[in-house]
Amino acid sequence: MVSLNRSFLYGIGFASFTWIISLYLYFQLTKNDIVANDTRVQTEQPWHKYNSINEPSQKYSSKDKSYLKKGSSNFLNSGKLIKKLQPVLAPPSHKDKVEEELMNLGIVRNSKDQEIRDEGYKTHAYNVLVSTRLGYNRSVPDTRNKLCKDVTYAKGLPSASVIICFYNEHMPTLLRTIHSVLDRTPKHLLEEILLIDDQSDIPNLHEDIDDYLKKNNMSKVKLLKPETREGLIRARLFGARRAQGKVLVFLDSHVEVNVAWIEPLLSRIAEKSSTVVMPIIDIINADTFAYTSSPLVRGGFNWGLHFKWENLPKGTLDKNEDFVKPIKSPTMAGGLFAIDKKYFIDMGEYDAGMNIWGGENLEISFRIWMCGGSLELIPCSRVGHVFRHRRPYGSPDGKDTMLHNSLRVAYVWMDDYKQYFLNQRSDAKNIDYGDISSRLQLRKELKCHDFDWYLKNVYPELALPTDDEEHLKKKMPDKFQPWHSRKRNYVAQYQIRLANTSLCVQSSKDTKTKGSSLILGVCAKNKRQMWYETDKNELVLAQLLCLQAGKSSPILYKCHEMGGNQEWKHKGGKQTPIYNMAAGTCLGVSKKAVNATLTMKLCNDPELSNWDLVV
Ligand code: UDP
Ligand code: MN
Repeated sequence: MVSLNRSFLYGIGFASFTWIISLYLYFQLTKNDIVANDTRVQTEQPWHKYNSINEPSQKYSSKDKSYLKKGSSNFLNSGKLIKKLQPVLAPPSHKDKVEEELMNLGIVRNSKDQEIRDEGYKTHAYNVLVSTRLGYNRSVPDTRNKLCKDVTYAKGLPSASVIICFYNEHMPTLLRTIHSVLDRTPKHLLEEILLIDDQSDIPNLHEDIDDYLKKNNMSKVKLLKPETREGLIRARLFGARRAQGKVLVFLDSHVEVNVAWIEPLLSRIAEKSSTVVMPIIDIINADTFAYTSSPLVRGGFNWGLHFKWENLPKGTLDKNEDFVKPIKSPTMAGGLFAIDKKYFIDMGEYDAGMNIWGGENLEISFRIWMCGGSLELIPCSRVGHVFRHRRPYGSPDGKDTMLHNSLRVAYVWMDDYKQYFLNQRSDAKNIDYGDISSRLQLRKELKCHDFDWYLKNVYPELALPTDDEEHLKKKMPDKFQPWHSRKRNYVAQYQIRLANTSLCVQSSKDTKTKGSSLILGVCAKNKRQMWYETDKNELVLAQLLCLQAGKSSPILYKCHEMGGNQEWKHKGGKQTPIYNMAAGTCLGVSKKAVNATLTMKLCNDPELSNWDLVV
């Protein structure tokens, strides 16, 4: 569980609202000054390993919008012609090449592709069409701060057992996770990968993985299966108890580790075994599989006991070196961390009374801090995680496991402060959260600090429901590194006219109503038809709402700045398709007529999905 999102983005089901909230915060945080000031630089990692599908496509720089004034033909099919016609365009930047590859990988070519894509979203809540086409060995951009490259690590670091549990994971995505670990971890540091199949019920998944591992002689990868569905907490325990390495590294089953990800983690643990360390969790977009860097933020929580990301306290990132130093974090997202095996056992592993998903990340965070350890983010270690918009599974008995698990956290660790949680959750009153006596005993044996100590010493910035204005002022927000919302950056402005007609795309309602569908209207220079393109390839009507691809038709929606379904590619000028990165389909229309509704269409119908961008 990477509760990056375990809230919304992740946790979006994360009972999952943990991830959802987290993702929201992510959006907010990526706009932030910290990122702008961050000295990290993207290196020229070649993105050459995409499998297959080498459709020619137009090359242009996203900054050079001169193409908007040029006419040319279908960019999805006529790359060679375009190359001949447009020799003046700037060579594509590294970023453009990557986007172009992802565009080719996402395209829905026929109804079979559409079916695979739709089924994939149901079962996995991400785009399996792209994920499958990416293959098992893609490169990812090195998102580390450039100072990380100068850091050297001691010889003789402890070896790691990487523990990956999965329930119904998409096989190519899981295999890419495994290959990324094998490819980017020095052999002598990787004891084994323990793959724990938590009773997946996708037919043949277990056998197919087993076959693949055997055929490819992947003896370092051990596939294991508990006797019953345990949920991620007990499945991890199952793995941990069988691990041979000195350090345990827990990962989700849909991640890709980055360059030199493990050395900084192991090195910190080697210095002090009671330090539990986490990589920075980069974002793999669930719709496009684009890999992007995350800002340096730390883990917190709210009184609903949902994990959230928050900005670092002021002064954390003052000097250049601060961008490579460990950063203390009050909590962990949960999905990705490394811990000394002996320390894990001595301090009580996980709470085995917790079911399926949720809450265990706060439990282990409180326990680490309160019982003498510390929890740190390691900026030079980066791992990408697929942040989903929902979790595609529930618990076998349909119960809210996040609530059950959170109650255990509250009653074992939070002393009187649990009341703040209970006040928020009136539905928690008659819930049986099971026997917690052994966990209370553990807390006693470990002679842990109380929760008041944790709040005062580890997380003094957390606002209490009882804080008056003066207290709140002291805690917020100038205690944190400042951030400002970024202004939207417009790069072009045009009407979108159906080719060979005088019909333009406009809102079916006004320009302010979220959720409005789009229709064709007679072209007229008014704001209902004026589209503004941003440097993130959004199309914003009247500078208000973004064009967003839906399943069958596009709508106007609040701009979320996360790309994907609000990210549109075209070649500019006349007769261009307008392609959506997440949908893999193009902007189209049902017929050439006033009031005809806009739809999402396969990109091969020049009559009803070619557009003139009228400047
Ligand atoms: N998982 C599991 N058993 C379960 C539920 C989840 O093994 O009953 C695995 C899941 O396949 C994933 C990890 O636990 O590798 C975290 O779950 P998920 O990614 O759904 O959580 P999120 O990242 O959204 O918090
Ligand atoms: Mn996950």
